[in-house]
Amino acid sequence: MSDEPNMQNKDTQDTFGGRFPKDVDTQREQERLLSVSEGRADIYQETARAARELQDDFTEYDATQRGMGSSVDALTARGVPKQFVLDLTLLVSGGATTADLRQAVLDRAMELFGAEKGTILEPDETGTCLRMAAARAHGHSVRQSFVLGVDEGVAGRVYATGQQQIVPDTSSCEFFTPNPESDARGRLLVAVPLSSDSGCLGVLCVERPVEQTVTEAEVDRLQAFADHAAGQLRGVRVYEDLQQRVEELSVLCDISRELSSSLERDRLLSKIVDSSCTLLHCGMASLMLFDDDKQSLRILHAMGLPDEVVAGAKIVPGEGVAGWVAEHGEPLLIEDITQDSRFFRPQRAGEQSRKYSNRSLLSVPLLIGTEVVGVLNVNNKINHAIFTPRDRDNLALLASQAAVSIENARLYETLQRLAVTDPLTKLFRRNYFEEQVDAEISRCVRYKRPLSVMMIDIDHFKSINDTYGHQMGDQVLVGLAGLLRRYGRKDDVIARYGGEEFVALLVETDDEGAQMAGERIREATQAFAFDAGRAEPLRITVSVGHASYPDHTDTLDGLVGMADLALYAAKHGGRNQVRGYQPGLDMPAG
Ligand code: GH3
Ligand code: MG
Ligand code: MG
Repeated sequence: MSDEPNMQNKDTQDTFGGRFPKDVDTQREQERLLSVSEGRADIYQETARAARELQDDFTEYDATQRGMGSSVDALTARGVPKQFVLDLTLLVSGGATTADLRQAVLDRAMELFGAEKGTILEPDETGTCLRMAAARAHGHSVRQSFVLGVDEGVAGRVYATGQQQIVPDTSSCEFFTPNPESDARGRLLVAVPLSSDSGCLGVLCVERPVEQTVTEAEVDRLQAFADHAAGQLRGVRVYEDLQQRVEELSVLCDISRELSSSLERDRLLSKIVDSSCTLLHCGMASLMLFDDDKQSLRILHAMGLPDEVVAGAKIVPGEGVAGWVAEHGEPLLIEDITQDSRFFRPQRAGEQSRKYSNRSLLSVPLLIGTEVVGVLNVNNKINHAIFTPRDRDNLALLASQAAVSIENARLYETLQRLAVTDPLTKLFRRNYFEEQVDAEISRCVRYKRPLSVMMIDIDHFKSINDTYGHQMGDQVLVGLAGLLRRYGRKDDVIARYGGEEFVALLVETDDEGAQMAGERIREATQAFAFDAGRAEPLRITVSVGHASYPDHTDTLDGLVGMADLALYAAKHGGRNQVRGYQPGLDMPAG
């Protein structure tokens, strides 16, 4: 009769002390392996696509440069001084930036027009409003803050229609939008489009005293210069864009190489976060992965976020930005979180500003095939800039590499785990145990701490096989492994040493402690009732031998051997007993 009929079930659960390998679902691992290799093919396609785009951009740039041969004669014929044309050409060939060139264009245009004030207005990243990209005789704060709708005011009309506007007196023009620094005095304003083949880049505005008049020839001269300048500006911009793209792709390639060679998970996660910040020029990034239960996301690594936020964050799919991305499996680019009704929740005063230095967010899914395994988020782009669709594509590209690398690292961990796990008992294998003993022994010698090794062997196991069959024998091994798990302590390492022999490394345990631990196991085994499908439960006993550092040896090399000798003594002494090593114990000859 079984006195503890349900023990068996309990013993197979993973709720015991001791260090044990985690369970592995082999079928699932094989499926993952397949989808990871599919994921890798996606990255190649993405990179090839980006390279093709780059090729197209180069072709476009090349065409722009060829078109640049616009005749100097035609310009001088319309009154543009040759020197002005040469100045711009020199700047461009000298590698001027867009900002330098824009300023030079404005200065020449003002000189040409005899202007006392001037600006170049261009659409911002969102394309929804015009801002001062260059200005003369406008205060700094106005330059920073002045915003016009793309069809608002005089400049807006020019931008929207591509037609020049002549305003004889701004003070009496009903659609002129004064800025906060405008004086009451009106001015003569001429605004011309900066148009190139690819459309209107911006608007050039020049102002001079209201008392003066303007001739058609003067406006035509300004327009001729503006057309030429726009071509040059476009060329420099395309060039800068290309340079940036080449740099981004090369950063991506470096990242990809670095990530694919990383198998150690924590280092990999930190590399992914660092790389995201580098690639996107931002100060905050976080990497979220699904918990094992697949119900919620947690931040596993972050940059620029307070530790308590990282530790406490738990996101459910569908909730907030990352939750949206996890649910939809698509990237999400938010230009201004406070304008997005899906996500903006009014916060307590000051809270928003502490967390985000600006309000543009970018979040992309980590995908293995079509399965979302996590989410990568970036915020706080430097210079308070807004994330662009290209940022989104770049981050998505990085994320696809990241997802594959994370999965590779996980598979690698799993393989390592399988290599050290005994498939029947799910305890460690002997080779892993020996490695651990080595490491643990050095630690104990260094800190002068006690340590014991215990060998456990089932008594007359052969007869169990003979009586109940090999399968039942296996079940007994699994059951005993469960008992060992249950009676082990948190830091003990327990392994299957061979056939029906187990070994335990008992940390911080001396000879006396090992004797007690051995007795506990012996008694528990003796009391345990195995259900063998017969009227009477099957019972077994074990013999245990142990040896300790520093009680028995100060070299420690022979700990396992000494425990084995003690085990032999226990067998010899009649089995079902626990023996510690004693000097003089020796194997009998033969
Ligand atoms: P002792 O009390 O002296 O230890 O006697 P014993 O019968 O336990 O010792 P012996 O070494 O003679 O026999 C061990 C047996 O364990 C022999 C072998 O068939 C069996 N065995 C080894 N590995 C397994 C296994 O994985 N499953 C099963 N069912 N039996 C195993
Ligand atoms: Mg045996
Ligand atoms: Mg044996």
